[in-house]
Amino acid sequence: MSKALHDVFGFSGFRGVQDLVVDRVIHGQSTLAIMPTGAGKSLTYQLPAVLLQGTCVVVSPLIALMHDQLRSARANGIRAATLTSADTDRGATMDAFRAGELDLLYIAPERASQPHFRELLLSARVGLFAIDEAHCVSEWGHDFRPDYRLLRPLLDAFPQVPRLALTATADNHTRSDILAQLGIPDEGLIVAGFDRPNIRYAIRPRESVGRQLKAVVEENPGPGIIYAPTRARVEQLAESLARDTGRRVLPYHAGLPPEVRARNQAAFVASEDMVMVATVAFGMGIDKPDVRFVAHAGIPKSIEGYYQETGRAGRDGDPSVAIMFWGADDFARARQRLSEIEPHRQQSERQRLDSLAGLVETAECRRAVLLRHFGETPAQTCGNCDNCLQPVGVVDVTDVARKLLSAVYRTGQSYGLGHLEKVLTGVSDDRVLQRGHDRLSVFGILTEDEKPLLKALARALQARGSLTATEHGGLALGGDARAILKGEAAVAIVVPPKQDRKRRSRGGD
Ligand code: ADP
Ligand code: ZN
Repeated sequence: MSKALHDVFGFSGFRGVQDLVVDRVIHGQSTLAIMPTGAGKSLTYQLPAVLLQGTCVVVSPLIALMHDQLRSARANGIRAATLTSADTDRGATMDAFRAGELDLLYIAPERASQPHFRELLLSARVGLFAIDEAHCVSEWGHDFRPDYRLLRPLLDAFPQVPRLALTATADNHTRSDILAQLGIPDEGLIVAGFDRPNIRYAIRPRESVGRQLKAVVEENPGPGIIYAPTRARVEQLAESLARDTGRRVLPYHAGLPPEVRARNQAAFVASEDMVMVATVAFGMGIDKPDVRFVAHAGIPKSIEGYYQETGRAGRDGDPSVAIMFWGADDFARARQRLSEIEPHRQQSERQRLDSLAGLVETAECRRAVLLRHFGETPAQTCGNCDNCLQPVGVVDVTDVARKLLSAVYRTGQSYGLGHLEKVLTGVSDDRVLQRGHDRLSVFGILTEDEKPLLKALARALQARGSLTATEHGGLALGGDARAILKGEAAVAIVVPPKQDRKRRSRGGD
């Protein structure tokens, strides 16, 4: 095993759980390996592919990813091919497969349901099924692909062939679902450590994101990625950051011509100080170990997404920074989108958003929250995240929350925070007077101590869904708002120590 590791891949030893996975697989035991990005998943099927009799059939969801894998496998002298609609040499590939001349055959999941593909497999010798990005099989996963559900009958037609499912991101729920969906026994689950100790996590409210990102770029001279939510935002940030910092900053999103994308990506990979502003389209399959910072200009889709995107920092093990700037409107928009998706997926999507809100809003160690999400039992503090480095206070703001929610309710659930703040603090401008809001019981009800908490509170209530945004930008009650009003649920927010405010709002300190 280790001889092949050295001779074929040139590696001096296994990393992490690689040997456990390979050992199971070459003994014919089906396995689900959960390994973070960069942990070396490919090796866990490529090495068995070389050692086992028969071909290893790899199911992979993206043709671009497949071709990357193909190139690196071939560079190691492994006999590999892809069988996709994009390949013109399919006949030759099938012949080689039948003749037993392939170690690896990459296919897309939709092929699995085609009857002639099953016949092809029956006419050849299959040594292993590897299912990459296996979370795609689960509706609980963040990237469900119905095609993955078609794999099971095919796998079951080859009961003697072991299955190796691989994914970087799966919470407990998704994990058990993958095991069940792909028919892998519970004892076949192998989970690699998710901790990335060299990444320093920080999550801050968004104030003036241009200024906040400029500070991050200026304080971190190495290569960095900034994720922005839309193409327009990517373009705009790339331009302003290039201008304001003098650094080389390029945009990357799916709307750019392919040659521009390829050029920008190549420039980034080769660079030692470039900043890429990108949508989440950027990063998959990119091998750049020395990314020094990953910044988010808005919330990612989920904790899984956050982990994956921030995980592109510091693959070389050197100190790196992951910093997110979030706003209440990010959560408001995400929660609005919930209503547009299929009803049976809403619950899992809502849970995903709640978990993310929990990470954003926590006063605890960020790393501990992250690792617990992935099923680990980490230490309570890590000493390398914003909350560990500068502990924040937690204040119970249930009373203020009830005042705010009550004002939302009494004004008819259609006003924005600006107006509500006037009502609550007793400012009787024309609008307040016209609507008669100065005669409400909530008019001027906030105490001096409570006033400074209002913005952070509104943000927290939106993050957890107790306040939702209406189409016209007003606020309405949602989630557990009624429970809060009735005194059945509590609300706490984190408050940074005042004198540190300024320092805390900057990145990479
Ligand atoms: P993943 O698919 O889990 O994100 P990859 O399979 O792309 O990770 O591997 C990440 C990097 O680690 C690659 O550059 C690979 O060559 C390297 N690598 C994998 N296993 C080992 C090992 N045992 N020793 C040294 N480098 C390794
Ligand atoms: Zn910590």
